[in-house]
Amino acid sequence: CALTGAGLSTESGLPDFRSPGGIWSRYDPDEFAYPRFVSNVEARRSYWRWSAEFYPGVAAARPNDGHVALATLERAGRLYCLITQNIDDLHHRAGSTKVIEIHGNASRVGCLACGREWPRAEVQRWLEAGTEEPRCDACGGILKPRTISCGQAMPERETEAAFAEARACDVMLVVGSSLVVHPAAALVPVAHESGASVILVNLEETPFDAIAKVVIRAKAGETLRRIAAEVVGTEGNS
Ligand code: NAD
Repeated sequence: CALTGAGLSTESGLPDFRSPGGIWSRYDPDEFAYPRFVSNVEARRSYWRWSAEFYPGVAAARPNDGHVALATLERAGRLYCLITQNIDDLHHRAGSTKVIEIHGNASRVGCLACGREWPRAEVQRWLEAGTEEPRCDACGGILKPRTISCGQAMPERETEAAFAEARACDVMLVVGSSLVVHPAAALVPVAHESGASVILVNLEETPFDAIAKVVIRAKAGETLRRIAAEVVGTEGNS
């Protein structure tokens, strides 16, 4: 089983949240917390201004060697499940199919009242045409990307499935996550306590380095490419 975070996608040009220059060094996380989003029109306008700026980069990003290596491991029957905190859709675009997105996916927008959905690309056109706070044209409800914000409930099915995989796996390969965002971070001690060997690939220390069997302090793309080459016997890019 693998668990990935924003650090896997920095080599695709997407900033993570907590590294220097990451998103939280330029924006205030409280601004985008879910309770404010649903209760305050100014907070929604501000969120959509940020989102309109952030989304084109996500749409244009391409999977890097790390995403490709994880898809290679799945195809080779060596990776049974990929749990991701990322919302950028790059695992699917790299060819992974067994993906559990515990923080949602930014490529869809949904109505919080009636559940109707739109592609995020369509909403981007509305924003660029001057809409400040998109609303559902069927019921007038609040629209929000299908991602999980701070203070928003986790998706039940995905969260349960992720913890079941963490309890069942024999190895958990964790890549590019600071492991400070819960409940996602708790997947690591749960896997460890259930008998799995934990392998951490991250540029910085994490709170779970001490329980890891292996800690690799190196860039995700090159490291995963080499792991896939070793395990599958290819260069990880076929
Ligand atoms: P985080 O920003 O808290 O931590 C990222 C970690 O990755 C850091 O510890 C950093 O040292 C490491 N890192 C950065 N580049 C790396 C590289 N090339 N190789 C190896 N390690 C690298 O990210 P998180 O733990 O995923 O938590 C942030 C939350 O924000 C998540 O919930 C996620 O949903 C969301 N997020 C998603 C994206 C995305 O989808 N690409 C981007 C930003 C934030």
